[in-house]
Amino acid sequence: MSVNVTLNNGIEMPALGFGVFQTPPETTSASVAEALSVGYRLIDTAASYFNESEVGEGIRRSGLDRSEVFVETKIWISDYGYDETLHAFDKSAGKLGINQIDLLLLHQPVPTDFARTVSAYKALEALLADGKVRAIGISNFMPTMLDRLLEQTDVVPAVNQVEVHPYFTQRDVQAANAEHGILTQAWSPMGGITSYRDDSSRSTFTDPVIGEIASAHGKTPAQVMLRWHLQEGRSAIPKSVKPERIAANFNVFDFELTEDQVSAIDALDTGVRGGPEPESVTMEAFHRDIPEA
Ligand code: NDP
Repeated sequence: MSVNVTLNNGIEMPALGFGVFQTPPETTSASVAEALSVGYRLIDTAASYFNESEVGEGIRRSGLDRSEVFVETKIWISDYGYDETLHAFDKSAGKLGINQIDLLLLHQPVPTDFARTVSAYKALEALLADGKVRAIGISNFMPTMLDRLLEQTDVVPAVNQVEVHPYFTQRDVQAANAEHGILTQAWSPMGGITSYRDDSSRSTFTDPVIGEIASAHGKTPAQVMLRWHLQEGRSAIPKSVKPERIAANFNVFDFELTEDQVSAIDALDTGVRGGPEPESVTMEAFHRDIPEA
């Protein structure tokens, strides 16, 4: 069983997807095939994860028809600019082995080079008009950057993929998205980003409040966090390379958190982000060469 959300252009997208950031290329196709076999129908990758070819292979290995899988990927900043981004679509689609991408995002705004960010978005608009993508969106856009983008472009993004987990909820970003009919999609939905940090003294996976709610439902903390996203109307894209976790993280459609439980998780927000400060991203510091297909 799965649940779909309707994007602002009428396209249906599964609310719960599968992420592959930091999944090594040699593990990716097996993980993706595993995820599809237990019911996921949305895969989130990015040019800068360097595993789009393996995502494509995993989808083909699943035996599912292409139309049954919603494929989402992201343009890296080094490919921003109108012509560059059109070419970046060809690179991603070529590696994925598909003609049409379901949802294509700009991975980050580049505040110091915003004109190129806008040109990249205009290329996404052209790809949408040409039917090469079914929906377009953004990632890591804070409200001021979103406003600047909306002022200079025509198509309102369908999705803004941002860091959201119990320790960092970004209510202001979620509210700005909602105001414009943009779906908030939670990256690091279980707070995985906080456990990658060496100085992490708290983990969402062992948080006592989440643990107590999990025990009350006979579920795991991971399942409780994913259910929390779905009940608050967000899309979420958990990552795992472990088959038992991949399956368990999808098993969240048979229980419901109470309003008090949802509020108790909301109250865990620390206001501290795990990922890079979006305003600090520059072309130079975050340059990556994205290979040809
Ligand atoms: P998640 O919240 O998905 O956490 C993943 C981490 O938790 C991994 O270390 C994983 O390890 C572990 N884990 C997974 N399931 C469980 C479980 N049931 N119990 C205990 N531990 C578990 O965070 P990510 O940072 O990986 O983000 C998820 C996705 O979000 C990415 O794959 C990517 O698609 C997207 N993303 C987007 C970004 C952006 O800038 N747009 C930035 C970062 C992520 P293991 O694999 O060993 O199970």
